[in-house]
Amino acid sequence: TPVIGVLALQGDVREHLIALAAADAVARPVRRPEELAEVDALVIPGGESTTISKLAVLFGLLEPLRERVRGGMPVYGTCAGLILLADKILDPRSGQETIGGIDMIVRRNAFGRQNESFEASVDVQGLGPVEGVFIRAPWVESVGAEVEVLAEHGGHIVAVRQGWSLATSFHPELTGDHRVHGLFVEMVREKAAAGSR
Ligand code: GLN
Repeated sequence: TPVIGVLALQGDVREHLIALAAADAVARPVRRPEELAEVDALVIPGGESTTISKLAVLFGLLEPLRERVRGGMPVYGTCAGLILLADKILDPRSGQETIGGIDMIVRRNAFGRQNESFEASVDVQGLGPVEGVFIRAPWVESVGAEVEVLAEHGGHIVAVRQGWSLATSFHPELTGDHRVHGLFVEMVREKAAAGSR
């Protein structure tokens, strides 16, 4: 059974721990570099990307996170987590760093004031319609050639995969539907199988 960490600096950590357990993974919070070293994969939750980035620097986690993602650790980011996995943010706040790993440019709070938060059915490649909960959500402005677009909403990219990295603008951890977490757990199992061949 894969051991999957949830980056527990800020954001909806608990919901991800529950969703991962429901998707047959062993889930645990990660706050320290030693804890990061012990997990097979990591989820970066929704919350506030600037805050998570600053806390990651304070906790000495930013470089270890970058190293593990570069090394091929499977990682899944939702909303703020998607922003943290982007190689580039369009209007970063001062001091806002990203972990990177996905060759994409993201726009924070992209869906605008009218639509601060909403729900919509999103057709995710390989899964079909998924209830998407969007909360001050980013969208993906553009992607590089290595990035696979898994879903769009209103003409904007809201789910992507590159290598062992997965990201969604929306929050599957806030619904009772654990299929997106299931997809991630499947990626983690595939990676483990690939590693032991
Ligand atoms: N707007 C937030 C940010 O920039 C993300 C919101 C969320 O994770 N629900 O980090």
